[in-house]
Amino acid sequence: MRGSWHYLPMEPNLAKIETLVRQLLVELGEDPEREGLKATPSRVAKSLAFLTHGYRASLEQVINKALFTQDTSSMVIVKDIEVYSMCEHHMLPFFGRCHIGYIPTGRVFGVSKLARLVDMYARRLQLQERLTEQISQAVFESIDARGVGVMIEARHLCMMMRGVEKQNSEMVTSSVLGTFRESETTRDEFLALIGPRGR
Ligand SMILES: [Zn+2]
Repeated sequence: MRGSWHYLPMEPNLAKIETLVRQLLVELGEDPEREGLKATPSRVAKSLAFLTHGYRASLEQVINKALFTQDTSSMVIVKDIEVYSMCEHHMLPFFGRCHIGYIPTGRVFGVSKLARLVDMYARRLQLQERLTEQISQAVFESIDARGVGVMIEARHLCMMMRGVEKQNSEMVTSSVLGTFRESETTRDEFLALIGPRGR
């Protein structure tokens, strides 16, 4: 399944990452032996392993039996799913909210599963555009949905604390598939249901 893109079952080598982080501290002009930094390489290694745990999850595991049969063809909306990811260009965080709408053909997601699905793709090095598309594609394929719409609004630290230093700019990306792509009415319904954005 295309949703399983880049599935790496291997745990990262924490000892190796620690060594690299220690070297990085030296290159940045720091003394990795000073008290405050002594445990930093090991903390950073564990933290990076956690922040990229999405590489080691598979769509099959994440969704595992949490699809319910429901005879409805009304639009289902889940709003404001928290997103924490890291941009692949700078390895700095981007974070915000994800809104998902879909029209089922008989099967629906348990609500917490959608959040886990978002996490699975977010906890990797990402581009917001690709993240948005991967989520919509995964929802579309795994329940054979009639249509899917995904919108992500996020702030990127690589924009906020370096480079252009645009503190308040938020990036909005969307991906629509099936009836959400074909029908303007369906798209409008989705946008109306997720409500006014940019709070
Ligand atoms: Zn970036």
